[in-house]
Amino acid sequence: MLAESHFYFHKAADVLGLPDKVRTILLTPRRSVKVEVTIEGERGDLQVYEGYRVQHNMARGPMKGGLRYHPAMDEDHAAALANLMTWKTAVVDVPYGGAKGGINCDPRSLSKKDLFEITTRFVEQMKEVIGPTTDIPAPDVNTNAEVMGWIMHEYSKYAGFSPGVVTGKPLHLFGSEGREAATGRGVMDVLAEALDEQGKSFNDITVAVQGFGNVGSNAARLMAERGAKIVAVADHTGGVSNEEGLDIPALVAWTAEHGGVKGFSAGEAFDNNEIITWNADVLVPAALEDAIHKDNAADVKAKIIVEGANGPTTPEADQILNERDILIVPDILANAGGVTVSYFEWAQNIQQFSWDEDKVNSELDKKMSRAYRSVREVANQRDIDMRTAAFVLAIQRVGKAALARVHIKTELPF
Ligand code: NAD
Repeated sequence: MLAESHFYFHKAADVLGLPDKVRTILLTPRRSVKVEVTIEGERGDLQVYEGYRVQHNMARGPMKGGLRYHPAMDEDHAAALANLMTWKTAVVDVPYGGAKGGINCDPRSLSKKDLFEITTRFVEQMKEVIGPTTDIPAPDVNTNAEVMGWIMHEYSKYAGFSPGVVTGKPLHLFGSEGREAATGRGVMDVLAEALDEQGKSFNDITVAVQGFGNVGSNAARLMAERGAKIVAVADHTGGVSNEEGLDIPALVAWTAEHGGVKGFSAGEAFDNNEIITWNADVLVPAALEDAIHKDNAADVKAKIIVEGANGPTTPEADQILNERDILIVPDILANAGGVTVSYFEWAQNIQQFSWDEDKVNSELDKKMSRAYRSVREVANQRDIDMRTAAFVLAIQRVGKAALARVHIKTELPF
């Protein structure tokens, strides 16, 4: 996965004519930490996991990135996703660098008590390397506001009251209004811009969504509220479709009760692998990486792909889709709504002041629209695709900041 994120970096660096020395500076992670996370489970069983945190770059501010609990989590994933965070925070121009981490556990097979113990142990092991001015974790796959609350509590035991150590916290524990839905809202915002360019509105489109967790369900709900027909949704349990448009609030309620979309009666069931090639105008991959690959990219029917997930498109698939003139709004732009409102949450924590939801949402909408237009401008000026343009913009911002901090005998070509 790391190779893939480097592939996109080098493609943009080639456009910029970036010297090798600067590429090395920008790609080398600042720090990579691996820790043992051992607990005695509720049933008396010994559970041993590995915890990771890769801190990629802090030229533009404290490092920022999610915490993922997943059996496939490893150093390679953490490094690749940390790298993406550096470019993402730069694209939306929030004063952060990039980091990512996680634990290779399977939360679906664990009790809440075990998850709490695992999280607490992870913080105990990582407390020296995270903090409100160094590295600020946030929710990612299989972590949520509750887990962030536990992290804040545990970290504060060592460092004193520190709400700014994590974002995505519960509202009653110094979280921000609007954070829960922020990534999905950002997906909706950039799609609004893309539709606007094409003279269309949400009323004109059908949408297929892969993943119905935080990002997928909020994006689906917000797009449906604006008039889009969400014709198919898939998650790890299966797929459900309705050509008239799925009732998203009902599907959210069903999923909360049953742990997945499978069995939802107001739609037809289908094999979740079919979602990528579903007959819809827009595809929102919002599950895991590599969902769109060389074997299914040629069969994608959507004309616009908005990458809610991180790294959902492999480089081979990216090339096939670009050749087919399918517009891809890339992850480092499309799913940056979460980190943007994380920044608002952190800023509120530091100021010990709260914004209301309207303020958060309107500031988020502005930031996402501005970021989309900035990326579009680079894409048009240089005649490149939106992903490469987003990387070009980010590399310029991070590159200038990184080189302004050190003495390196190299000129930047911008
Ligand atoms: P989540 O755990 O809330 O949801 C993940 C969803 O993916 C679930 O619905 C799950 O069933 C589904 N899924 C897993 N395997 C699948 C499969 N094989 N086929 C179809 N669906 C499958 O996670 P999330 O927070 O919504 O994150 C989803 C993606 O968005 C990840 O790539 C994450 O890195 C990215 N992301 C999340 C945020 C955020 O704020 N949560 C921000 C930026 C990017």
